[in-house]
Amino acid sequence: MNRNQELLSRSLAAVWHPCTQMKRHEELPLIPIQRGQGVWLYDFDGRRYLDGVSSWWVNLFGHCNPRINAALKDQLEKLEHVILAGFTHQPVVELSERLGKLTGLGHCFYGSDGASAVEIALKMSFHYWRNTGRPEKTGFVSLAHGYHGETIGALSVTDVALFKDTYAPLLRQTAQVPSPDWRRAEPGESAEACALRAAKALEAYLEQHHAATAALILEPLVQCATGMAMHHPAYLNKARELCDRYQVHLIADEIAVGFGRTGTLFACEQAAVLPDFLCLSKGISGGYLPLSVALTTDDVYQAFYADETAKGFLHSHSYTGNALACRAALATLDIFEQDDVIAANRGKAAAFDSLLAELAAHPKVRNFRHTGMIWAFEVDSAAADFANRFYRAALEREMLLRPMGDTVYFMPPYTIDEAEMGLLAERTLEIVATLGG
Ligand SMILES: *Cc1c(COP(=O)(O)O)cnc(C)c1O
Repeated sequence: MNRNQELLSRSLAAVWHPCTQMKRHEELPLIPIQRGQGVWLYDFDGRRYLDGVSSWWVNLFGHCNPRINAALKDQLEKLEHVILAGFTHQPVVELSERLGKLTGLGHCFYGSDGASAVEIALKMSFHYWRNTGRPEKTGFVSLAHGYHGETIGALSVTDVALFKDTYAPLLRQTAQVPSPDWRRAEPGESAEACALRAAKALEAYLEQHHAATAALILEPLVQCATGMAMHHPAYLNKARELCDRYQVHLIADEIAVGFGRTGTLFACEQAAVLPDFLCLSKGISGGYLPLSVALTTDDVYQAFYADETAKGFLHSHSYTGNALACRAALATLDIFEQDDVIAANRGKAAAFDSLLAELAAHPKVRNFRHTGMIWAFEVDSAAADFANRFYRAALEREMLLRPMGDTVYFMPPYTIDEAEMGLLAERTLEIVATLGG
């Protein structure tokens, strides 16, 4: 048995893999990865895969990035972790200050996964209203086809049948309003008009239910996990205005879209909207270590600042504010600054757009769309199990791409170069030509 096969069978015996029907692996091989370099992942047999999904949207600057590696090595010699209750340390202070400046939200509460940042924001919003004499505001409203994670609270505001239906009896009742997804536009309706039409439904909901509603949670600009549904920023302006009018918090879940994915450092910037809570994770540490944060306003912070313990925010995770993870996040922010990444990405996105022109015009491709460093389209295909077949065809062509249903998307690391973009475009076109129709 070679090293690839050996690890594969040991993994199947001992590791329960995420979001996977494990029986599937009787016929679909797992891929043991030995090392990563830039956008490439290498297995033990010397095969390579271009990481077209940034390893589930977390990797921004390539695998084994020398600058993040160096920062982590330095941090390892100083402090790996310390309890954050009663203690503090340099990386967590610096990171909080820098995120505060970048977002306009001055108070950072840390978790480890995206879902825990969502739990934090939901609990904090509810507790804010309780501390300010509005304990009846306990409800949450979210967008149709939204995704906010899979712990019980986060799953309650998620609207993905596959993830939610089985666990429905465990979940809190929440409300969903229509998505501003521009694919829902009526003939002749602009993306903006479509977004404003969806906002009307939000308005009707809040008008009726605001007294019992704590917060609206949404993914600004791109609903990623349900097929990269994109919407016009006007929706965010309208949502902010309605949340102000009806005294409902706005929670921006930028776990997937934060850190440059939509073409600005944070998606909310494109509507000049300041949310009451901002959830960040995924790209925050450059894809190195689990770290998440819920940021909030002075107003929310002050509502918890009191003599009584029970008025404080009663929530903790063991690895809260982990020093290594915060240091990786600082190194990530340094790269954004030093390389002017947001501007550089505009050039890359334009180059990728032209490389994708032929694919976008393919007769089997629908709704070709692009926001920042995310590209997506639907493929008309009669192939049963299209996503799985596409995934395998991509692997055979040295690409890691994971379609969601009939939606194919690219979310590459920002360090991808033109030759690598060309490879993605050309080989994806090949697969579409084979599987389409
Ligand atoms: C991935 C994601 C989450 C959940 O993050 P985990 O780290 O997987 O728990 C929440 N919200 C959005 C928008 C996401 O994309």
